[in-house]
Amino acid sequence: MMVKRNGDSLRIAVQSNGRLTSYSLDLLRGIGLEFEDHERRLFARCRNFDVELLFLRDDDIPEYVADGVADLGIVGLNVIREQEADLEEMVQLGFGFCTLTLAVPNASPAMRPEDLAGSRIATTHPRSLARFLASRDIGADIVELHGGAEIAPALDVADAICDLVSTGTTLRMHDLRRIGDIWDSQAWMVSNVDLKADANRSALVSRLRVRLDGLLTARRLKYVTLNAPAEALPRIREILPGMRSPTVVPLADSGMVAVHAAAQEEVFWEAMERLKEAGATEILVLPVEKVMR
Ligand code: ATP
Ligand code: ZN
Repeated sequence: MMVKRNGDSLRIAVQSNGRLTSYSLDLLRGIGLEFEDHERRLFARCRNFDVELLFLRDDDIPEYVADGVADLGIVGLNVIREQEADLEEMVQLGFGFCTLTLAVPNASPAMRPEDLAGSRIATTHPRSLARFLASRDIGADIVELHGGAEIAPALDVADAICDLVSTGTTLRMHDLRRIGDIWDSQAWMVSNVDLKADANRSALVSRLRVRLDGLLTARRLKYVTLNAPAEALPRIREILPGMRSPTVVPLADSGMVAVHAAAQEEVFWEAMERLKEAGATEILVLPVEKVMR
Protein backbone atom coordinates (compact mmCIF):
# COMPACT_ATOMS: atom_id res chain seq x y z
CA MET A 1 0.00 0.00 0.00
CA MET A 2 1.42 3.40 -0.95
CA VAL A 3 -0.19 6.30 0.92
CA LYS A 4 0.12 9.65 -0.91
CA ARG A 5 1.61 12.34 1.32
CA ASN A 6 -0.59 15.37 1.81
CA GLY A 7 1.28 18.57 2.57
CA ASP A 8 4.36 18.76 4.71
CA SER A 9 3.12 17.22 7.95
CA LEU A 10 5.68 15.16 9.76
CA ARG A 11 4.43 11.60 10.11
CA ILE A 12 5.33 9.41 13.07
CA ALA A 13 4.47 5.70 12.93
CA VAL A 14 3.59 3.97 16.21
CA GLN A 15 2.32 0.49 17.04
CA SER A 16 -1.49 0.55 17.03
CA ASN A 17 -2.15 -2.07 19.64
CA GLY A 18 0.56 -3.94 21.47
CA ARG A 19 3.33 -3.83 24.01
CA LEU A 20 4.91 -0.64 22.69
CA THR A 21 1.71 1.38 22.27
CA SER A 22 1.15 2.99 25.66
CA TYR A 23 4.88 3.70 26.18
CA SER A 24 5.09 5.27 22.71
CA LEU A 25 2.06 7.51 23.28
CA ASP A 26 3.34 8.56 26.73
CA LEU A 27 6.67 9.46 25.17
CA LEU A 28 5.08 11.58 22.42
CA ARG A 29 2.88 13.34 24.97
CA GLY A 30 5.96 13.75 27.16
CA ILE A 31 7.67 15.80 24.44
CA GLY A 32 4.63 18.03 24.19
CA LEU A 33 2.58 16.61 21.32
CA GLU A 34 -1.17 16.96 21.93
CA PHE A 35 -3.44 14.46 20.22
CA GLU A 36 -6.36 12.15 20.77
CA ASP A 37 -5.88 8.52 20.02
CA HIS A 38 -9.41 7.91 18.70
CA GLU A 39 -9.16 4.20 19.47
CA ARG A 40 -6.06 4.38 17.34
CA ARG A 41 -7.64 4.35 13.93
CA LEU A 42 -5.07 4.79 11.17
CA PHE A 43 -4.39 8.53 11.70
CA ALA A 44 -4.38 11.11 14.48
CA ARG A 45 -3.47 14.77 13.92
CA CYS A 46 -1.62 16.70 16.60
CA ARG A 47 -3.36 19.87 17.76
CA ASN A 48 -0.24 21.91 18.44
CA PHE A 49 2.29 20.70 15.83
CA ASP A 50 2.16 19.88 12.15
CA VAL A 51 2.47 16.20 13.02
CA GLU A 52 0.34 13.20 12.13
CA LEU A 53 0.52 9.89 13.96
CA LEU A 54 0.13 6.77 11.89
CA PHE A 55 -1.03 3.68 13.82
CA LEU A 56 0.34 0.46 12.33
CA ARG A 57 1.31 -3.12 13.13
CA ASP A 58 4.84 -3.02 14.48
CA ASP A 59 6.09 -5.27 11.65
CA ASP A 60 5.01 -2.68 9.04
CA ILE A 61 6.78 0.26 10.70
CA PRO A 62 10.38 -0.23 9.40
CA GLU A 63 9.26 -0.58 5.80
CA TYR A 64 6.91 2.41 5.92
CA VAL A 65 9.64 4.59 7.41
CA ALA A 66 12.21 3.29 4.91
CA ASP A 67 9.79 4.08 2.02
CA GLY A 68 9.01 7.56 3.37
CA VAL A 69 5.32 6.82 4.01
CA ALA A 70 6.22 7.89 7.57
CA ASP A 71 9.20 10.10 8.51
CA LEU A 72 9.80 8.71 12.00
CA GLY A 73 8.77 5.50 13.70
CA ILE A 74 8.91 3.86 17.12
CA VAL A 75 9.74 0.17 16.86
CA GLY A 76 11.71 -2.62 18.55
CA LEU A 77 15.33 -3.14 17.52
CA ASN A 78 14.40 -6.80 17.00
CA VAL A 79 12.04 -5.84 14.16
CA ILE A 80 14.63 -3.50 12.61
CA ARG A 81 17.27 -6.25 12.70
CA GLU A 82 14.91 -8.89 11.41
CA GLN A 83 13.84 -6.79 8.43
CA GLU A 84 17.25 -5.23 7.72
CA ALA A 85 15.38 -2.11 6.58
CA ASP A 86 17.34 0.93 5.42
CA LEU A 87 16.69 3.36 8.29
CA GLU A 88 18.52 5.71 10.55
CA GLU A 89 18.43 4.52 14.16
CA MET A 90 17.98 7.85 15.94
CA VAL A 91 17.39 7.44 19.68
CA GLN A 92 17.24 4.49 22.04
CA LEU A 93 14.05 4.93 24.07
CA GLY A 94 14.47 2.87 27.24
CA PHE A 95 11.33 0.72 27.01
CA GLY A 96 10.21 -2.49 25.26
CA PHE A 97 13.13 -4.42 26.73
CA CYS A 98 13.37 -8.05 25.62
CA THR A 99 15.94 -10.64 24.55
CA LEU A 100 15.96 -12.92 21.53
CA THR A 101 16.57 -16.25 23.21
CA LEU A 102 17.03 -19.92 22.36
CA ALA A 103 15.05 -22.33 24.53
CA VAL A 104 14.36 -26.06 24.65
CA PRO A 105 11.85 -28.27 26.53
CA ASN A 106 13.03 -28.99 30.09
CA ALA A 107 13.47 -32.67 29.15
CA SER A 108 15.83 -31.90 26.25
CA PRO A 109 19.51 -32.81 26.68
CA ALA A 110 20.61 -29.55 24.93
CA MET A 111 22.59 -27.20 27.18
CA ARG A 112 24.02 -24.63 24.75
CA PRO A 113 23.25 -23.32 21.24
CA GLU A 114 25.84 -25.66 19.65
CA ASP A 115 23.80 -28.63 20.88
CA LEU A 116 21.03 -27.62 18.46
CA ALA A 117 22.98 -28.83 15.41
CA GLY A 118 20.64 -31.01 13.34
CA SER A 119 17.48 -29.90 15.21
CA ARG A 120 14.39 -27.97 14.14
CA ILE A 121 14.09 -24.50 15.67
CA ALA A 122 10.75 -22.65 15.52
CA THR A 123 10.94 -18.85 15.38
CA THR A 124 9.22 -15.62 14.42
CA HIS A 125 12.70 -14.15 13.72
CA PRO A 126 14.05 -16.43 10.94
CA ARG A 127 16.63 -14.01 9.51
CA SER A 128 18.09 -13.11 12.89
CA LEU A 129 18.25 -16.80 13.79
CA ALA A 130 19.85 -17.71 10.46
CA ARG A 131 22.55 -15.06 10.95
CA PHE A 132 23.23 -16.29 14.48
CA LEU A 133 23.46 -19.97 13.42
CA ALA A 134 25.75 -19.07 10.53
CA SER A 135 28.01 -17.02 12.82
CA ARG A 136 28.43 -20.04 15.13
CA ASP A 137 28.56 -22.52 12.24
CA ILE A 138 25.57 -24.44 13.61
CA GLY A 139 23.55 -26.41 11.01
CA ALA A 140 19.86 -26.50 12.04
CA ASP A 141 16.44 -26.31 10.33
CA ILE A 142 14.54 -23.07 10.82
CA VAL A 143 10.75 -23.46 11.15
CA GLU A 144 9.29 -20.02 10.42
CA LEU A 145 6.17 -19.09 12.40
CA HIS A 146 4.19 -15.84 12.72
CA GLY A 147 3.53 -16.20 16.43
CA GLY A 148 3.15 -18.75 19.20
CA ALA A 149 6.63 -20.30 18.85
CA GLU A 150 6.44 -21.39 22.49
CA ILE A 151 3.90 -24.12 21.69
CA ALA A 152 5.86 -25.56 18.74
CA PRO A 153 7.86 -28.13 20.79
CA ALA A 154 4.69 -29.49 22.45
CA LEU A 155 3.14 -29.90 18.98
CA ASP A 156 6.33 -31.62 17.80
CA VAL A 157 6.74 -28.99 15.11
CA ALA A 158 10.18 -28.17 16.49
CA ASP A 159 12.82 -29.33 18.99
CA ALA A 160 13.70 -25.84 20.17
CA ILE A 161 12.48 -22.27 19.84
CA CYS A 162 14.06 -18.89 19.24
CA ASP A 163 11.75 -16.22 20.62
CA LEU A 164 11.57 -12.88 22.43
CA VAL A 165 11.61 -13.16 26.19
CA SER A 166 11.36 -10.50 28.86
CA THR A 167 10.71 -12.00 32.30
CA GLY A 168 10.81 -15.66 31.22
CA THR A 169 7.30 -16.41 32.56
CA THR A 170 6.06 -17.61 29.17
CA LEU A 171 8.97 -20.02 28.88
CA ARG A 172 8.33 -21.43 32.35
CA MET A 173 4.61 -21.80 31.64
CA HIS A 174 5.47 -23.95 28.62
CA ASP A 175 8.13 -26.04 30.40
CA LEU A 176 10.91 -24.48 28.36
CA ARG A 177 14.46 -23.69 29.47
CA ARG A 178 16.82 -21.00 28.14
CA ILE A 179 20.06 -22.26 26.62
CA GLY A 180 21.47 -19.09 25.09
CA ASP A 181 20.70 -15.46 24.28
CA ILE A 182 21.19 -14.02 20.80
CA TRP A 183 20.85 -10.30 21.60
CA ASP A 184 18.96 -7.75 23.70
CA SER A 185 16.42 -5.39 22.22
CA GLN A 186 14.55 -2.23 23.19
CA ALA A 187 12.42 0.32 21.37
CA TRP A 188 14.12 2.89 19.11
CA MET A 189 13.03 6.05 17.38
CA VAL A 190 13.96 5.53 13.73
CA SER A 191 14.02 8.00 10.89
CA ASN A 192 13.77 7.94 7.10
CA VAL A 193 17.27 8.35 5.64
CA ASP A 194 16.24 11.12 3.21
CA LEU A 195 14.44 13.23 5.80
CA LYS A 196 17.39 15.65 6.04
CA ALA A 197 16.67 16.79 2.48
CA ASP A 198 13.31 18.26 3.58
CA ALA A 199 14.07 21.54 5.36
CA ASN A 200 10.66 21.99 7.05
CA ARG A 201 10.28 18.51 8.37
CA SER A 202 13.89 18.15 9.45
CA ALA A 203 13.68 21.45 11.38
CA LEU A 204 10.68 20.07 13.24
CA VAL A 205 12.50 16.79 13.89
CA SER A 206 15.46 18.71 15.35
CA ARG A 207 13.13 20.49 17.75
CA LEU A 208 11.43 17.28 18.80
CA ARG A 209 14.84 15.62 19.13
CA VAL A 210 16.01 18.21 21.70
CA ARG A 211 12.84 17.63 23.70
CA LEU A 212 13.24 13.88 23.44
CA ASP A 213 16.83 14.04 24.71
CA GLY A 214 15.63 16.26 27.56
CA LEU A 215 12.85 13.86 28.49
CA LEU A 216 15.11 10.81 28.40
CA THR A 217 17.83 12.59 30.42
CA ALA A 218 15.23 13.68 32.97
CA ARG A 219 14.13 10.08 33.41
CA ARG A 220 17.70 9.15 34.33
CA LEU A 221 18.10 12.07 36.75
CA LYS A 222 16.95 12.45 40.33
CA TYR A 223 16.94 15.59 42.40
CA VAL A 224 18.46 14.84 45.79
CA THR A 225 18.37 17.03 48.88
CA LEU A 226 19.91 16.16 52.23
CA ASN A 227 21.47 17.63 55.36
CA ALA A 228 24.94 16.56 56.47
CA PRO A 229 28.00 17.59 58.48
CA ALA A 230 30.22 19.73 56.19
CA GLU A 231 33.11 17.27 56.54
CA ALA A 232 30.95 14.44 55.09
CA LEU A 233 30.67 16.25 51.74
CA PRO A 234 33.55 14.45 49.91
CA ARG A 235 32.13 11.05 50.92
CA ILE A 236 28.64 12.07 49.79
CA ARG A 237 29.97 13.14 46.39
CA GLU A 238 31.56 9.69 46.05
CA ILE A 239 28.23 8.00 46.71
CA LEU A 240 26.47 10.20 44.12
CA PRO A 241 29.11 10.34 41.37
CA GLY A 242 26.83 11.83 38.75
CA MET A 243 26.24 14.89 40.95
CA ARG A 244 27.24 18.08 39.11
CA SER A 245 28.31 21.07 41.27
CA PRO A 246 25.83 20.68 44.12
CA THR A 247 24.32 23.66 45.91
CA VAL A 248 25.69 23.64 49.47
CA VAL A 249 23.98 25.93 52.00
CA PRO A 250 25.10 26.31 55.64
CA LEU A 251 22.43 25.38 58.17
CA ALA A 252 21.68 27.19 61.41
CA ASP A 253 23.34 24.31 63.34
CA SER A 254 27.06 24.98 63.17
CA GLY A 255 29.02 22.62 60.96
CA MET A 256 25.89 21.34 59.16
CA VAL A 257 25.07 21.95 55.47
CA ALA A 258 22.12 21.31 53.17
CA VAL A 259 23.05 19.75 49.83
CA HIS A 260 20.81 20.06 46.74
CA ALA A 261 21.86 18.38 43.50
CA ALA A 262 20.70 16.59 40.38
CA ALA A 263 22.24 13.11 40.45
CA GLN A 264 22.80 11.00 37.34
CA GLU A 265 22.98 7.71 39.08
CA GLU A 266 19.86 5.78 39.92
CA VAL A 267 19.24 6.73 43.52
CA PHE A 268 17.64 3.75 45.15
CA TRP A 269 17.48 2.49 48.68
CA GLU A 270 21.06 1.24 48.66
CA ALA A 271 22.51 4.67 47.82
CA MET A 272 20.24 6.30 50.40
CA GLU A 273 21.46 3.86 53.05
CA ARG A 274 25.07 4.69 52.24
CA LEU A 275 24.31 8.42 52.40
CA LYS A 276 22.81 7.90 55.83
CA GLU A 277 25.93 5.97 56.94
CA ALA A 278 28.05 8.89 55.70
CA GLY A 279 26.16 11.15 58.11
CA ALA A 280 23.35 12.51 55.91
CA THR A 281 19.87 13.04 57.33
CA GLU A 282 16.55 14.26 55.85
CA ILE A 283 17.42 12.64 52.50
CA LEU A 284 14.82 13.42 49.82
CA VAL A 285 14.91 11.95 46.30
CA LEU A 286 12.59 13.68 43.82
CA PRO A 287 11.80 12.91 40.18
CA VAL A 288 12.98 15.37 37.52
CA GLU A 289 10.36 16.08 34.87
CA LYS A 290 12.16 17.96 32.12
CA VAL A 291 15.72 19.11 31.39
CA MET A 292 17.26 21.49 28.87
CA ARG A 293 20.99 22.24 28.95
P1 ATP B 1 1.44 -6.34 16.09
O1 ATP B 1 0.02 -6.66 16.13
O2 ATP B 1 1.68 -4.84 16.10
O3 ATP B 1 2.20 -7.05 14.98
P2 ATP B 1 3.00 -8.07 17.89
O4 ATP B 1 2.15 -9.12 18.51
O5 ATP B 1 3.92 -8.42 16.78
O6 ATP B 1 2.05 -6.84 17.49
P3 ATP B 1 3.90 -7.22 20.55
O7 ATP B 1 3.78 -8.53 21.24
O8 ATP B 1 2.96 -6.13 20.91
O9 ATP B 1 3.94 -7.38 18.96
O10 ATP B 1 5.39 -6.74 20.76
C1 ATP B 1 5.87 -5.55 20.20
C2 ATP B 1 7.33 -5.39 20.54
O11 ATP B 1 7.50 -5.35 21.96
C3 ATP B 1 8.25 -6.52 20.11
O12 ATP B 1 8.62 -6.43 18.75
C4 ATP B 1 9.43 -6.29 21.01
O13 ATP B 1 10.26 -5.27 20.49
C5 ATP B 1 8.80 -5.77 22.30
N1 ATP B 1 8.73 -6.73 23.42
C6 ATP B 1 9.04 -6.46 24.71
N2 ATP B 1 8.89 -7.53 25.49
C7 ATP B 1 8.49 -8.52 24.73
C8 ATP B 1 8.16 -9.90 24.99
N3 ATP B 1 8.24 -10.44 26.19
N4 ATP B 1 7.74 -10.64 23.95
C9 ATP B 1 7.62 -10.09 22.72
N5 ATP B 1 7.93 -8.81 22.44
C10 ATP B 1 8.36 -8.02 23.42
ZN1 ZN C 1 4.09 -7.70 15.05
